[in-house]
Amino acid sequence: MSSALIPTYARADLAFERGEGAWLVTVGGERYLDFGAGIAVASLGYGHPHLVGALKAQADKLWHTSNLYQIPEGERLARRLVDATFADMAFFTNSGAEALEFAVKTARKYHAVDGHPERFHVVTFEGAFHGRTIAMVAAGGNPKYYEGFGPKAPGFDQVPFNDIAAVRAAIGPQTGAVLIEPIQGEGGIREADPAFLKALRALCDECGLLLIYDEVQTGVGRTGRFFAYEHYGVAPDILAFAKGIGGGFPLGGCLATKEAARGMTAGTHGTTYGGNPLAMAVGNAVLDVILAPGFLEEVARKGLLLRQRLAQLRDAHPAIVKGVRGQGLMVGVETHLPPADFVAAARREHLLSVPAGDNVTRLLPPLTATDEELAEGVHRLERACVALEAARAKGAAS
Ligand SMILES: *Cc1c(COP(=O)(O)O)cnc(C)c1O
Repeated sequence: MSSALIPTYARADLAFERGEGAWLVTVGGERYLDFGAGIAVASLGYGHPHLVGALKAQADKLWHTSNLYQIPEGERLARRLVDATFADMAFFTNSGAEALEFAVKTARKYHAVDGHPERFHVVTFEGAFHGRTIAMVAAGGNPKYYEGFGPKAPGFDQVPFNDIAAVRAAIGPQTGAVLIEPIQGEGGIREADPAFLKALRALCDECGLLLIYDEVQTGVGRTGRFFAYEHYGVAPDILAFAKGIGGGFPLGGCLATKEAARGMTAGTHGTTYGGNPLAMAVGNAVLDVILAPGFLEEVARKGLLLRQRLAQLRDAHPAIVKGVRGQGLMVGVETHLPPADFVAAARREHLLSVPAGDNVTRLLPPLTATDEELAEGVHRLERACVALEAARAKGAAS
């Protein structure tokens, strides 16, 4: 039967019924090892007892009240995020794109209340991905995502990644902020150079610009630190997060210094659902696990282990695998074939992964995956490489 869903996705012919840790089980009972984690969302895997317990307990008490009232669990989550980061304040949303909309609105308002509403331009980077709202497809700058949806939203000036001279050249009297992913996710696990990010911070300070990090994918433990900027020792003024913070519950948000958020007073922005009691209970439960002593160190250790094993895979299958990169459990496998084909070959071995730009396949296992599961994932990729090589040899022979 044809689907009644609007077909904006090319979905794999797979439907899952339940999950356990790093594993998903289909309607038919087949088990898949999930190194996609719902695109870096299921940070603690599936059915984590602490998360399930927190959600069920909150579901019995209260789901939603609106932001017309105090939400104590939200106050608590904001305080914990602020205490663990550069920030002084937080705002909660339902998604990454909304978090970035808030980030850009905050930067524009910062200049507007200073008498400079003309400073609404934001410098962004080639290969970026910031979500799918009308403003964020302009910020991301990928024509595939903005063409056909009316005029491209003004105020986003795109420059090459890791090119400080290009940033400097793009800054004019209308520039108010710079928006960057410290490690590009959709763009293919492309890391900012430490020297570039330091120079970017200095340039922002020199020109009175706000530095905004998009840590929607890199944040909340994914790279082996709470936020990826900690690897660089370069703090932003504003930071957007989402994905991992909800462990599968729709939750995002924005962190900011008090100074950067100075324009965001009562009535300037709002959301009906953002930060509701169900989301806040889950967010706090995720932090209970991620911020527990030793957890992030384990993510970093497991990331290193995974990348070492993948380097061996590259050495054994150089015709398929070109390189391996990333931080923590945000890993990119660069291949000599289109990532969609590599992802499909891995899926035939019951391993789930996510394609990205730059001929890279992303491996984003749950942060709770065990050493054995990481090794098993690489075994499955090895089988995928063997199958791809066999298919190539057969193609060459016929
Ligand atoms: C996923 C993602 C977004 C968009 O998040 P949504 O929740 O899909 O709106 C924005 N930025 C980055 C870096 C992302 O990975």
